[in-house]
Amino acid sequence: MKIFVVNCGSSSIKYQLFESADESVLAKGFLERLGTSEAVLHHTAGTQQHDIQVEAPDHSAGLGLILEAITDRRIGVLSSLDEIDCVGHRVVHGGEQMHHSALIDEAVIEVIRENAELAPLHNPPNLAGITAAMSDLPKIPHVAVFDTAFLSDLPACAFRYALPKEWYTKYHVRRYGFHGTSHRYVTLRAAELLGAGVDKINLITVHLGNGCSMTAVAGGKAVDHSMGMTPLEGLVMGTRCGDIDPAVVFYLARRAGLSLEELDRILNKESGLLGVSGVSNDMRDCLAAADGNADAALAVEIFVYRIVKYIGAYFTILPGCDAVVLTGGIGENSLPIRRRICQGLQRLGVVADEERNGTIVGGKAGPITTDDSSLPVWVIPTDEELMIARETQAVVENNK
Ligand code: AMP
Repeated sequence: MKIFVVNCGSSSIKYQLFESADESVLAKGFLERLGTSEAVLHHTAGTQQHDIQVEAPDHSAGLGLILEAITDRRIGVLSSLDEIDCVGHRVVHGGEQMHHSALIDEAVIEVIRENAELAPLHNPPNLAGITAAMSDLPKIPHVAVFDTAFLSDLPACAFRYALPKEWYTKYHVRRYGFHGTSHRYVTLRAAELLGAGVDKINLITVHLGNGCSMTAVAGGKAVDHSMGMTPLEGLVMGTRCGDIDPAVVFYLARRAGLSLEELDRILNKESGLLGVSGVSNDMRDCLAAADGNADAALAVEIFVYRIVKYIGAYFTILPGCDAVVLTGGIGENSLPIRRRICQGLQRLGVVADEERNGTIVGGKAGPITTDDSSLPVWVIPTDEELMIARETQAVVENNK
């Protein structure tokens, strides 16, 4: 089966074409700066990468260009679009309605539309991608894979905020969580690698990329999660603040005369590592600057401290913990951050293995703790696109 995976952002489209038999990637790429005069398509087929200046005013035009590249005689990998069997779409917000991936029909489209209110930056472009792809590839099944689905069965004590009940019933204010596809993927991989049944495994999965989030997994199911109604809550991120006292917002509105829009922008785009360090939102830059720059050093310290604190909290609410799993750009690659997280977890019985920490990089999976560490810490590279492809295949096969 050839599965086309699409992830539409507001100004970008990422894609991968999978052959399900061996889960190989036939082609992949991304179109960036969509809607501007500088749109570029980065298309990779085999080992060849092509960077092509394109005119892509909207998602429909962008997707058309991607499908042309995939079937192009020179840089393509298919002779015709008829070879594509199904399409998997990443959709950020499925609200309280979507607990699983689903074949896209009018009802699913309506759910994505309804939840655009909760994910105004993500659901509309996701939907634009779905509409464009369904029009270009009308004869094959399209599947929506929701980022929130894996996190949609949290217990009420974890998803409800201590706010007036009406805010939940009328305005749907609750924890939804994000990065669910990544947390689910590493949960399944951890079960495989640790030789445990998925329905038995207890984990703390920690996704550390530009956005950062943590999930407590009991018996293979998510029972708590650090991101909230929006991706702003929880861990410190590249530019997002994570947990703060909500009164900071009222205080600064009054004291500094900042508007809601300004506060929204600063908490989302100018805080986190960037805000504290004043150097960069990229962990590599913060680490490089940390030696002679106290602000950069503090940004890294707060980042690690928050992670360790959350792991401690999740450790106490889980029935047990088979492993802490680190993933995402930082989790998969940053030896100093992994080392510091392990150091912070000594009280939980974590014994770091420096040699293993040095070798589990570049896409490798494995433990970075010693064999006798009572709480193992694993690094498991995430693969959200592959997870979407697998989900898509499963939904299509179930609906045959
Ligand atoms: P992601 O969103 O998962 O692609 O992760 C992106 C982030 O990973 C970047 O912003 C970097 O901060 C971080 N990152 C990637 N490689 C490294 C590395 N070798 N050391 C530290 N951070 C890294």
